[in-house]
Amino acid sequence: MSARCRGLNQVPGNDRRQALALLLGGSLAGAALGAPRQAFAGATQMAALPIDEHFMRMAIAEAARGDFPFGAVIVRDGDVLAAGRNLDRTTNDPTAHGEMVAIRRFVAVRPADGLKGTTLYTSGEPCPMCMGAILWCGIGRVVFAASIDELATTLGQIMLTSKQVADAAPFATVAITGGVLAAEALALFQK
Ligand SMILES: [Zn+2]
Repeated sequence: MSARCRGLNQVPGNDRRQALALLLGGSLAGAALGAPRQAFAGATQMAALPIDEHFMRMAIAEAARGDFPFGAVIVRDGDVLAAGRNLDRTTNDPTAHGEMVAIRRFVAVRPADGLKGTTLYTSGEPCPMCMGAILWCGIGRVVFAASIDELATTLGQIMLTSKQVADAAPFATVAITGGVLAAEALALFQK
């Protein structure tokens, strides 16, 4: 029998959990199956916290100064440890997205291990490049303003969500919160 025509009950262990997750949405399936969190690596969707708008305003302020209006800050325990804004024209580097610049600035002055468990606030949902970097760095939480879908109405985007990228990384677990001050982030594109 090919994998394509196997029923859900015939799919073993983790595959079955993943298939159910696709049907039900990750956290619901995890809860329904009593899955330990580590066994369900990838993204957990998390509600916004009261403090999130404060740090998102900083990310949006960075974005307002970028070559393109994207900005990010990396936070731990209420302290901003690094900030970045899009510098792709300034530095002749198409990979200089706000998140990448913030990560590079962090590791320029601190051990990379210090990124583990931090929260990255970004004015736009991370693209697959930035989300890959976030996962490789062990950043524990991502909070974004405008979603990839919203950004795609204004400029070209690789149409994979941050959750889709994270769910494809079995070594990483990251909490994702979207939509914090999205209208303010999107308004920067009108200026
Ligand atoms: Zn990016």
